Amino acid sequence: MDVSRRGFLKLSGLSIAAFATGLGFDPAVAQAKGYALKLEGTKKIPSICHFCSGGCGMLLYVKEGKLIHLEGDPDHPTNEGTLCPKAASLLAVANSPDRVTKPRRRAPGADKWEDISWEEALDIVAKKTKEVRDASWKAADEVVNAKTGLTESLPVNRVEGIAFLGSAEVDNEESYLIKKFCELIGTPYNEHQARI
Ligand code: SF4
Repeated sequence: MDVSRRGFLKLSGLSIAAFATGLGFDPAVAQAKGYALKLEGTKKIPSICHFCSGGCGMLLYVKEGKLIHLEGDPDHPTNEGTLCPKAASLLAVANSPDRVTKPRRRAPGADKWEDISWEEALDIVAKKTKEVRDASWKAADEVVNAKTGLTESLPVNRVEGIAFLGSAEVDNEESYLIKKFCELIGTPYNEHQARI
């Protein structure tokens, strides 16, 4: 009999399943039990994959603050339980020892990064934002009046030195807050990575 590699694997799987069932061992039951054991004591949290802008639904299983398992949400209309490899790899991303979880700073002239507190990080960002805003504020701009041909000074009240670049990693709520913040500090420069 000429059997392809794929056919051989299928036959082997069927033979093992038939053999196991013959011994009173049901692989489907064992799989269900293993799955239940893995998820024991976890909290199920519905979430959205943030990798691309597809918005697929995910179910996260968390125990003592650690992500134990994730899978596609079968009730989500976008992906109906499926997940692409990028989303499936998020378990490794969330639990990676290399993941940066604290703000870090490399001071001017330093050759190393150091951990700093969130308070310090927010202070630095706030001070720099104010510095750049003050230095690049434009109250009025010169424009040529199309009818008269004369140059006029019109109020614009905008910051020219600050721009925001959005990303597919930014969700609706974050986008809303970013846009609010842009309006608040007075910058009209707010773009999305996908348009660049
Ligand atoms: S599961 Fe894949 S396709 Fe869906 S949002 Fe995530 S990265 Fe995009």
